Amino acid sequence: IEGCLKDDGLANPQIAFSDSLKRTFRDAEAFRSVVKSREFQVHYQPIVHLASRSVHHFEALARFSSNNNGPANAIRMAEELDLIESFDLAVAEKVLKRMRAPGAGLLKMAINVSGSSLGDDTYVEQLLHMTAGSPAERKRLIVEVTETSALADIEAANRRLAALRETGIKVCIDDFGSGAASYDYLRKLTVDAVKIDGSLVRDLETDELGRDLLRNIVELCRSMKLETIAEMIETEGVVTELKALGVEYGQGWLFGRAEAEPRTQLASAAPVRRRGAVEAWG
Ligand code: C2E
Ligand code: MG
Ligand code: MG
Ligand code: MG
Repeated sequence: IEGCLKDDGLANPQIAFSDSLKRTFRDAEAFRSVVKSREFQVHYQPIVHLASRSVHHFEALARFSSNNNGPANAIRMAEELDLIESFDLAVAEKVLKRMRAPGAGLLKMAINVSGSSLGDDTYVEQLLHMTAGSPAERKRLIVEVTETSALADIEAANRRLAALRETGIKVCIDDFGSGAASYDYLRKLTVDAVKIDGSLVRDLETDELGRDLLRNIVELCRSMKLETIAEMIETEGVVTELKALGVEYGQGWLFGRAEAEPRTQLASAAPVRRRGAVEAWG
């Protein structure tokens, strides 16, 4: 490997291979140092109680200044490099710090955890360690489990999530309805809430099949006594539909984007994104 990475510029039959390896290695090292030195930001997007239009909690979303298009690629890379667990914990650390800042009040926060961070005990042990001093604080934390990388051992993951829930931390299935594993998760993981994937929410006004799917998901959640949250709400029309269907909470650009500071006061008239406009996430 060492030899391949040497930037000697010599003609080399393996140049294509070594170039891509080099690129990967450089990114991996850069990413490793970003995680280690905490050189990333966390932004906060409000989750709103739809009936009262009040901010219920915030979702913490990772932001890398080098990447304006949202963290999805970096998260995927972290999963591939086996760095996601330390990254998710580094995010948790920043979020807890923000919750403990002077004048923060009783902020409730949701943090994302990759399925692969539930593959061993470390994430849960560390999160419990970080919150050991404050049982009340745990009650203000929500962990959103994403399906980005599938849970290899779902029973073991459920035991780990149960350890969180015993302490008052809430658990939510994220992006429900987007992937093949959603219903398997719902069957096998004991959780408090389901966040319905934006692909079922965004075009609710026009997508009748999507609306039927969403109606069924809401029914199912109601019968399981789970809270429902909708993501990617961009229009008032969608809010009306969601309320009619019985969805309790929502998040989206209509209410506010992820911002450096959690703002409990919603902007009275958030600009509604025009249909068809192309915008980066965030
Ligand atoms: P997610 O957990 O489903 O987060 C919601 C995503 O939807 C965010 O993208 C948010 O900016 C975007 N979004 C919010 N409202 C709207 C809207 O009205 N319209 C549209 N089009 N998009 C909206 P973001 O920040 O790019 O994050 C992408 C994903 O990266 C997240 O999806 C989450 O799965 C993952 N992620 C973010 N932070 C972390 C983290 O700390 N750890 C892990 N494991 N994953 C993270
Ligand atoms: Mg999430
Ligand atoms: Mg989500
Ligand atoms: Mg999503």
